[in-house]
Amino acid sequence: MLDSHLFSYSEGSLCCESVRLDELAGEFGTPLFVTSRQSLVSQFRAFEAAFATLPHFTCYSVKANFNLSVIQALASEGCGCDVNSGGELYRALKAGVPPARIIMAGIGKSEDEIGYALSSGVLMIKAESVSELRAIDRVASRLGKVARVAIRINPNVTAETHPYITTGDSKEKFGIDEAELGEVFNLFRTLPNLSLEGLDMHIGSQIFDPEYYVAATQKLLDVLESTRSLGFDIKWFDVGGGFPVTYDPQKPATPIGRFAEKLIPMLEGKGVTVIFEPGRFLAANASVILTRILYRKRNHAGKEFFIVDAGMTELIRPALYQSHHEVLSVTRHDRSIVADIVGPVCESSDFFARQRMVDDAAEGELMAVLSSGAYAAVMSSNYNGRLRPAEVMVDGSDVRLIRRRETYEQLVQNEI
Ligand SMILES: *Cc1c(COP(=O)(O)O)cnc(C)c1O
Repeated sequence: MLDSHLFSYSEGSLCCESVRLDELAGEFGTPLFVTSRQSLVSQFRAFEAAFATLPHFTCYSVKANFNLSVIQALASEGCGCDVNSGGELYRALKAGVPPARIIMAGIGKSEDEIGYALSSGVLMIKAESVSELRAIDRVASRLGKVARVAIRINPNVTAETHPYITTGDSKEKFGIDEAELGEVFNLFRTLPNLSLEGLDMHIGSQIFDPEYYVAATQKLLDVLESTRSLGFDIKWFDVGGGFPVTYDPQKPATPIGRFAEKLIPMLEGKGVTVIFEPGRFLAANASVILTRILYRKRNHAGKEFFIVDAGMTELIRPALYQSHHEVLSVTRHDRSIVADIVGPVCESSDFFARQRMVDDAAEGELMAVLSSGAYAAVMSSNYNGRLRPAEVMVDGSDVRLIRRRETYEQLVQNEI
């Protein structure tokens, strides 16, 4: 099923690895995020195997799923971290990731965040504007440090994906424009607390066609050449994340090997260590949301609704990106029905699936919303006074609570 076989039916009951989901619902309640540790590890190993012949360093993009146990599972395999904020840096450090294995991104880092990164000793900070470079230099000089910096280039490649997740186009806010590079290189000559060590890009997310990477990588290689001719010693060549996963079995993702086949010949022998920043690729299919059917109803036009106890507050992707998620009945039924699977939140966009063929499950039964490991729990909110769900991690037959369900008290704890 999808990219991993770690969520599958056994004797008519949906399981994560060797644990039945209905038993997890009984023990931990719903809605519940269930994450397969083996799925995280096997996706990471598949990624590493694809790029094995290239000198590289893979940094998990923590923003996809920042749970400490998820970070730890990947870090224990040798994965580094790409963080986007002070909060994500805090999480990566808290998970035990050595600062020398953490890189920091983010288009709008505050001076506090820059100071936190520098004093923690992260491997490098990726800068996205001339003004930010000045800010990094100011903070580094206050701290008496030289900041290791990469510059994020906007390669002006428009990758074909959802418009909200394309990031390498000149219309978008990300990265430094090629026309500005002259000014940037001059800055590195004049600002003593900056050391230019890397070039960076990130063209978007869920990109199916390797040719977009090829085009953007070629541009970044051109920049590498001119940077070197100016006498800078570039050690790191960061091609970002964005590698795709399968959400819809009808639209299988391009295998990671196809990206490796194209990129390795372009990048080998360039005297750099290539950095990859996969997020979705590692985390998306490692988790499901387990949810209970509260009510079923049928309207005058014969339209069927399953009203479940999870919603857009736990998984906003269908509302935000019109994304497809498979929805499975935890207990298999012979009969199926076409229905909308909707949540309890007071918004029409609060749905998981529309006009979808699903098992004809009854009120009180359980459903699983697949591919809920990336950009799901991290985007969860308390809208409508909803409590963030509990999260469990399964490893073989072992089950561990990795996040407690929020309480009503926590909803108001910061209010005065
Ligand atoms: C979001 C992001 C990633 C990860 O993107 P995925 O599509 O999840 O792989 C990597 N790098 C940067 C800079 C990002 O902003």
